[in-house]
Amino acid sequence: MKHATVSVDGTRLKSLLDGVNQFGFSPETGGYNRLAFSESDMACRNWFMEKMQAEGLDVRMDPVGNVFGRFGPADGPCVIVGSHLDTVADGGAFDGSLGACAALEAALALRDANYAPSCAIEVVATSEEEGRFGGMLGSQAMTGQASLDWVNSARDSDGVLLKEAMRVAGLDWARVPEARRSPQDVKAFLELHIEQGPVLERAGCAIGIAEEVSGVCYLEVQLSGVANHSGTTPMDLRCDAFAGLTDISASIPELIAKLGTEQSRITIGKVDLVPNHPHTIAGRATFSIIIRDTSRDVMCALRDAMQRRAEDAAERHGLTFTLTPKSWLDPQKLALELAEATEHAVKELGLTYQRMPSGAGHDAQTMQTLCPSGLIFIPSQRGISHSPEEYSVWSDIENGANALLHTLIKLTS
Ligand SMILES: [Zn+2]
Repeated sequence: MKHATVSVDGTRLKSLLDGVNQFGFSPETGGYNRLAFSESDMACRNWFMEKMQAEGLDVRMDPVGNVFGRFGPADGPCVIVGSHLDTVADGGAFDGSLGACAALEAALALRDANYAPSCAIEVVATSEEEGRFGGMLGSQAMTGQASLDWVNSARDSDGVLLKEAMRVAGLDWARVPEARRSPQDVKAFLELHIEQGPVLERAGCAIGIAEEVSGVCYLEVQLSGVANHSGTTPMDLRCDAFAGLTDISASIPELIAKLGTEQSRITIGKVDLVPNHPHTIAGRATFSIIIRDTSRDVMCALRDAMQRRAEDAAERHGLTFTLTPKSWLDPQKLALELAEATEHAVKELGLTYQRMPSGAGHDAQTMQTLCPSGLIFIPSQRGISHSPEEYSVWSDIENGANALLHTLIKLTS
């Protein structure tokens, strides 16, 4: 119990966050742009690595750009703690960066308290978590899930090859397999992250302890009808692709009520209409359907039901349709023992908390395939994230960092 009173240094944590956020800031939008392997992303990684080195940690960058700072025993297994430094386009100030900075601050607070961990603590700033190239390359490489075939061919939405972006960033894509960690070397992984949703704020809870992460099913649907004059074509003689799309979209709430759970989410977020002209009936609609739930069976049931809705809508409006499965990520249960360690730590700190699922994807779900992994949330103001409006109040940030610190003590004492 002699470390029961250790706490993070809020001023130092703030300066670490400010340090990270000097990279990629856009004065026009107020957002942060550290797209994976961009100049600002790599400059930020190097800054973070130098910062850890200056603090006396043993640092290295692995072949996919994950940055590590080791504290404690030089040999033997470690607990990895951290989050990602890359952002989406015009992302917020806390998504990922908070978890990386809080992990470093926790290690420094322990060092300052002359804490001798029973195994090493490796602070990590993971790379390419936001999926610019369609995966979570940093953690997937650590867990052996990034095949060279995939790395060789993956592209971002502008068609830029992953391996080319890595080359420009000074990384060798052929060395990706070397980033793999062995299960014997990693005892646990722990991540602090903003919730990116409204649940904690609404419940008035300081801390969320994630028990599981929703899976993601990505379908692409194309409805094809006849583009025609909006004035001369009677309503009952149309093959309107947009009308088919709206039928499918309108059926979502009823479908979730029938087959889904409280964790079910179905989103049509990207739509391309052709010709997309005010005076022309839409001849073609191509759109995304994203299905999320914490149960694989529920995801399958929702996917099958969406397919039937698309068939029905196509028939009703005289359309042909194709449905292409683009990707599938299984739901992932996180480690119960880590959730319990955090729960104990949070109780000792006297913080309010609740256990909850994570609707968003995180490195912790990938790391769980390698080692027991835990994920701690703090409230996001109005639940907003992936936006310059993203905000968390400072007291919540410090509480979260202390919850991370004291969970870490439980894992390494
Ligand atoms: Zn994130």
